[in-house]
Amino acid sequence: MTRRLWGRAFVGGEIRDKTLISIEEGQIVDVRSEPQAPSDSVTVHELIVPGFIDLHVHGGDGADFMDGSDEAVGRVTSFHARHGTTALAATTLSGSRADLHSAVTAIARAAPAINRGAEVCGIHLEGPYINANRAGAQNIASVRPADIHEIGTLLAAAPQFRWIITVAPEIEGVRALIEHFRGRMTFSIGHTAADYSDAVLALEWGASHFTHLFNAMTGMHHREPGVVGAALVSTDATAELIADGIHVHPAVLRVATRAMPNRIALITDAVRACGMPEGLYKLYQHEFRVTADGAARLGDGTLAGSTLTMQRAVQNMVELAGLPIEMVLPLATEIPARILGVSDRKGKIAAGYDADLVTLTPKFEVPRVLVRGREIV
Ligand SMILES: [Zn+2]
Repeated sequence: MTRRLWGRAFVGGEIRDKTLISIEEGQIVDVRSEPQAPSDSVTVHELIVPGFIDLHVHGGDGADFMDGSDEAVGRVTSFHARHGTTALAATTLSGSRADLHSAVTAIARAAPAINRGAEVCGIHLEGPYINANRAGAQNIASVRPADIHEIGTLLAAAPQFRWIITVAPEIEGVRALIEHFRGRMTFSIGHTAADYSDAVLALEWGASHFTHLFNAMTGMHHREPGVVGAALVSTDATAELIADGIHVHPAVLRVATRAMPNRIALITDAVRACGMPEGLYKLYQHEFRVTADGAARLGDGTLAGSTLTMQRAVQNMVELAGLPIEMVLPLATEIPARILGVSDRKGKIAAGYDADLVTLTPKFEVPRVLVRGREIV
């Protein structure tokens, strides 16, 4: 059966009125301009945009992918779908070998059964081959030298997914790991004390992405450009931004987006407390507290991920960072789709693409969310 939506839509990089979108069996089959709503179409009063894609999300609604259970995968993916995320990379933390393996196998087992949630397109291993001095809220006891065999085992447990791994280039074995697996996974520089030249070298080895740019890395000073400088000056590497207004100042969100056109992806870095009341929560082996402003912090004040949703990230980029919506939407859709290697079927409203659609009100609410044509909200 063909379903049709008619209204204003973000198509081809611009907002077009009177757009008719036809959907069949979970796919967009036609997008055209139509002056009148056909009688068999649903008129949408909000802006129709591609579903959001989150490359870096740990949890929400009380659950975390590190829980290693089918129930957790279901809870996190359905919570974020209700906030506009239609595809994501399930993100793990630095954990023991056994815990990482059980998290990855749970994601692989549970993903095909998700029926009211975001599609899991990838797995993002955030650690454990990172710098203990830049671990942020990660469990330092789990941080270790890179191990080709461990990654080989994880990849074999879930070969159907796209893979991202956050690594610190200065950690023993990371260069060999990148050279061994490049082309099979995306290497992202993060949780690192590397300087500018180390980061440039890591890009030469085959890294191509930066994990939550500015956070847990060396910043840019005019005589010490740092990892941030390497990201800004590179011509094709991409980077994540946490647009919660807490991790990165709105002015810096704006500068980075302007400085890296087509290369920034908004992420949430959301943890299990996302969507939950204030209080104490668990991040792998640490406890953290969420306060009234939505910040998630360990006892010493270290930020422990966020309570951000993609819907809110988009809103913040418009309202706090002051960027036009046409510039912000690709940061949550087309660009992360490219980074995740799914840009042939996700991230755009176009014929042949998955019917992953979100309707967005002027207040950035998402009253309607479709994942592969299926209505979630
Ligand atoms: Zn994270």
